[in-house]
Amino acid sequence: MQIVLHYAELGLKGKNRPYFEIRLAENAKRLLAPLGDLRIRRQPGRILLTLPDAAPWEEVRRRLSMTFGLSYFARIHVLKADMEALETLLATELPSMNVKSFACRCRRMNKDYPLTSEQMNRRLGAFVQKLIPGTTVDLDAPELEIFVEVVNKDFYAYFRREPGPGGLPAGTAGRVVTLLSGGIDSPVAAWRMIRRGCRTSFVHFHSMPFTSQASVDKVRELAQKLEPWQGPARLHLVPFAALQQEIVTSSPQEFRIILYRRFMTRIAAAIARREDAHALVTGDSLGQVASQTLTNLETINAVATIPVLRPLIGMDKQEIIDTARRIATFDVSNLPHDDCCSFLMPRAPATASSPEKAAEAEKGLEVDRLVKEALSKVVEERATA
Ligand code: ATP
Ligand code: MG
Repeated sequence: MQIVLHYAELGLKGKNRPYFEIRLAENAKRLLAPLGDLRIRRQPGRILLTLPDAAPWEEVRRRLSMTFGLSYFARIHVLKADMEALETLLATELPSMNVKSFACRCRRMNKDYPLTSEQMNRRLGAFVQKLIPGTTVDLDAPELEIFVEVVNKDFYAYFRREPGPGGLPAGTAGRVVTLLSGGIDSPVAAWRMIRRGCRTSFVHFHSMPFTSQASVDKVRELAQKLEPWQGPARLHLVPFAALQQEIVTSSPQEFRIILYRRFMTRIAAAIARREDAHALVTGDSLGQVASQTLTNLETINAVATIPVLRPLIGMDKQEIIDTARRIATFDVSNLPHDDCCSFLMPRAPATASSPEKAAEAEKGLEVDRLVKEALSKVVEERATA
């Protein structure tokens, strides 16, 4: 079977374009190679894939809909560029389709081909109306679209476009580190950055032995759910209980969560530096919980030494949930888990803070030592499904 891949924004990238196309092709290859012998050819403005006819189309389609950078793709008939060959194909395929209206959408990439797109459309339109008497041309809402792309010496003909996931090819925008909790938001935040071309690794802070092994397993499973979109990723598991206990004993309770988040930021930034990553990613959404008010975000951000990206900051919970369902992380995130045990949580978290007040609250803590100790205990894994 042959498939044509079309990309959208890639076209804007000028002389970097081959780099984007190569990454896109590599990503498609990673996902499709398990389905059979795969051939990939870059053509002007598109990519042509060949797979054995026996490859299951439903599965091919599912995997391509996870290949970022694609605006759409289609299973095609490849013919030599010849109107009669095309008409023969239509005479075979169309009668059983039983359609009353159609539109021809020809596009000539190869300007040496003697007919213009418009001339091709008109000739095909007349042919179809003769083939199936009573059919009408409807350019706005046809029952059938006949797509023909003239590429080099070939016609690519097809009747159905499959939507791609949009975005940019994973890996073209550089590395980031996502702070992955077991919740609904952070996997969606990671996915949105992968969609913009990032490769992400994950950092999870766990409170074992106060929390269970099951909550760590849940995070592993979330990291695995994200793997198809970008390829294998590292997961850093950071033991956080000892640090949390020090915070609990030596700082005001209403500041606990903000201080936890400041330490998470410091530790994750150090991990990012080791990995040559250039930003952290979190699932914060403005005002969703106490730690996500504007002043608290400012207070947390004040200790960051690299940018903290918050792709969900302006999204409503329902929008985030809709995406989580679409990328199949929702059901995993929704499993019950012990985020953090109750004695580590404050009774009333501060909703207003400032970097100065937080620094004051951290006075009794040896920040550098605590960060170093946590870093020395990080366990690194590869998240593979
Ligand atoms: P989520 O649904 O992602 O858990 P949330 O609504 O529960 O988010 P918070 O608990 O305030 O919000 O966390 C905000 C962000 O901080 C999370 O999206 C995540 O990026 C990061 N974060 C919080 N807890 C952890 C943790 N234990 N390990 C790693 N990152 C965390
Ligand atoms: Mg959470």
